[in-house]
Amino acid sequence: MSLDQDIIMKSQENQKKYKYMKAALNEAKKAELAHEVPVGAVVVYHDQIIARAHNKREKDQTFYAHAEFLAMMKAAKKIGSWRLEDCEVYVTMEPCPMCAGAMIQSRIKSIYYGVSDTKAGVAKSITNLFELPFNHKVHVESGILAEESQTLLKEFFKKLREK
Ligand SMILES: [Zn+2]
Repeated sequence: MSLDQDIIMKSQENQKKYKYMKAALNEAKKAELAHEVPVGAVVVYHDQIIARAHNKREKDQTFYAHAEFLAMMKAAKKIGSWRLEDCEVYVTMEPCPMCAGAMIQSRIKSIYYGVSDTKAGVAKSITNLFELPFNHKVHVESGILAEESQTLLKEFFKKLREK
């Protein structure tokens, strides 16, 4: 492959990542409107979004109702298998141990996330679960549209404090 082709391929790949992360951000905005911590996620399978979800912990009073967890559950239902090995997760915030564990268990191919979560994130912040010698390796990329995700979260917590 020539250098030019390489650059074109890379920029197309980046465009795809931004497109899917934008969709995850749209989900995060839905969470915000519902007075939930604004985190959103989508699952991509063969270049198509097959599941979208946002954080619903308060509404559902369910501890696992994190955006990426719900999106993965929807994806498994759609595919009809708990094995999500051809699926990519786009989530606006770094995953917690529960969600990272679910990604390893469901054999997610890749995870792309936005902003770091210094309080609960386990893809880099507190530890990196994905680096441990599990039988399944998940490809991880961070920082995609991180500023947008962070702004949403900041505004949300600012409003909470003002209440
Ligand atoms: Zn989580």
